Amino acid sequence: MGDHSIEQVKGVGEALQKNFEELGIYTVNDLLFYFPNRYEHYEIKPVSELRHDEKVSIEGEVVGDPVLTFFGKKKSRLILHLQVEEVIIKGIMFNRPFAKKQLQQGDTVTLTGKWDQHRLQITVNQYKKGKVKQDDPIQPVYYLKNILKSAQFKKIMMQAIDQFAGEIEEILPNPYIESYKLPTRAKALREMHFPSNFQTLKHAKRRFIYEELLLFQLKMQLFRKRDRERTKGNSQIYDASQVNQFIETLPFKLTDAQKRSLDEILVDLRAPYRMNRLLQGDVGSGKTAVAAIALFASITSKKQGAIMVPTEILAEQHYESLQSLFDGYGTITLLTGSVKGKKRKEILEKIKTHQVDITIGTHALIQEEVVFANLGTVIVDEQHRFGVNQRKTLRDKGMDPDVLFMTATPIPRTLAITSYGDMDVSQIDEMPVGRKTVETYWVKENMLPRLLQFIQKEVDSGYQAYVICPLIEESDKIDIQNAVDLYNQLQNTFPSSTKVGLLHGRLHSDEKEDVMQQFAANEIHVLVSTTVVEVGVNVPNATVMLVYDAERFGLSQLHQLRGRVGRGQAQSYCILLADPKGEVGKERMKIMTETSNGFELAEQDLQLRGPGDFFGKKQSGLPEFKVADIVQDYRALETARNDAQSIVYQDRLKDPNYYALKSYITKELNNNGSSFD
Ligand code: ADP
Ligand code: MG
Repeated sequence: MGDHSIEQVKGVGEALQKNFEELGIYTVNDLLFYFPNRYEHYEIKPVSELRHDEKVSIEGEVVGDPVLTFFGKKKSRLILHLQVEEVIIKGIMFNRPFAKKQLQQGDTVTLTGKWDQHRLQITVNQYKKGKVKQDDPIQPVYYLKNILKSAQFKKIMMQAIDQFAGEIEEILPNPYIESYKLPTRAKALREMHFPSNFQTLKHAKRRFIYEELLLFQLKMQLFRKRDRERTKGNSQIYDASQVNQFIETLPFKLTDAQKRSLDEILVDLRAPYRMNRLLQGDVGSGKTAVAAIALFASITSKKQGAIMVPTEILAEQHYESLQSLFDGYGTITLLTGSVKGKKRKEILEKIKTHQVDITIGTHALIQEEVVFANLGTVIVDEQHRFGVNQRKTLRDKGMDPDVLFMTATPIPRTLAITSYGDMDVSQIDEMPVGRKTVETYWVKENMLPRLLQFIQKEVDSGYQAYVICPLIEESDKIDIQNAVDLYNQLQNTFPSSTKVGLLHGRLHSDEKEDVMQQFAANEIHVLVSTTVVEVGVNVPNATVMLVYDAERFGLSQLHQLRGRVGRGQAQSYCILLADPKGEVGKERMKIMTETSNGFELAEQDLQLRGPGDFFGKKQSGLPEFKVADIVQDYRALETARNDAQSIVYQDRLKDPNYYALKSYITKELNNNGSSFD
């Protein structure tokens, strides 16, 4: 369908055109795809079928006189009672004092609003005298920002559909339309705006949800394919028998999940394209072990490897554990910001001349003056903290190694395949045998004295504790003040034999390191910290994780914090200090105490908080969908992904039946500045 300007719709003059433009509607196409954000329909259901907290309509007869009370300056509350079936239902109406005169004893009225199942009560948004007509059409409600009147908008919409519906081309290939029983594009479009009934509306929505998800997944798959073609020749021919030998030397047997992930990674290394893979797994599930094997494989193909981590402390820990692992199998070097002067020069030279096999450093590593002789594999730890742009940075520096991103924050599959749509995903979803689960408790502030006694007892037995104070996103000043206050308070509470330490983001990196080192050496027994240091630190002797104001954290983040303990032989405890106000908050705390699987928690977090909140505001990286909801439409998302994969990898876009789809998507991609043909 051509891009007719909006003024070509009959009835749209200059003034209206301006209004439409304010809504972001410039073309007929924009208008036709400006979908209602909801629909209104007065459907009367039996009281027993009304659902708590949902918007409902009820119809009944007013009993007694409505009671009006005023409060504040202009605020009022009107309470009325309705006889509905066999029960009396209470209606509450705010700030509409005039309704008292309109609704009198004996009147039949329809109330629409939020239903409270427990109180048999409705908070009224709308009221209407008389009975509802059962054949009332479903009313679309558009988001019009008070720029246009609804009636006027609908009139123009109707006109546009009449005028241009004939030009709306089908873009989905026939086999999909048939096998999913989808309405055609033109028909579905009309239904979206002027639904005949709920059944047809449902199918229209279903169609556009699928269409939207398919187009999105097609783009992702096209990007992925292009990336693979662009990096042809990127093959690491590792020595499988040496790799197996290396695995034999590990002090443990790989779990099935580790084996599966490793196999997927090895296929990528050997394949003639660049690996772009996300490895997800709970803290302690053995991701680093898998990464180490991948790096060793790289070494056997005569290439170098690198590990990038978010903090220097973490870089050092990796350095230490890998050194013993690679003893006799490869050379390892540590390159952090604190390595300076002559030493740094030496290291850089060694990297450049391939005298070291593996370099470990912070993410800054790739932005600095480092040049690798022959970089084969990069492991990026904690994908969340590592911008997608850094992948590009590597490429821009002329390096196109196989890249494995690791994250201990499990991302629900639906988010993984949307926000990382062009990546492959491996999951380590089981723990090595013999791990004790961390006992998790949710307690309120009044338990604090007993908690501190408990911590003292653990310290007396030789163990250690973390105490986390929350991150206040708006201000890291307040944040740090909180940490300092808590630190002082705990110092006063515990006897002087119990050493309390403090860690926060404002400390100099040397200071941080010093504190961490002391904690690792059990010279500090109780470590007060902000979440800045949540990532990756390994102190197996710590058995208690106490989190203040736990309701402020996401489930995944709490889970991540919990993963700091339970790393040694002793039973460990995670204690969530929280007094959440709402039901959702309480539910979240409860889930934490009941679930120890990170993937399960992530799914639940997503259900409770929605995708926007899941990653936190700053870094959602999620595409915006117009009709689809990636949580609710999860199955459509999977279907669309599978379809997109077969369309792209079986080269079906060349098929004449796919011509409309191909030209549509090519146009969209080119509009976004990525050239495809
Ligand atoms: P992650 O990187 O996922 O947090 P690591 O690879 O650091 O996990 O493993 C955590 C600990 O478990 C390490 O001490 C490691 O040696 C050990 N480990 C890894 N894989 C296994 C396994 N299959 N069986 C037993 N222990 C393992
Ligand atoms: Mg490869």
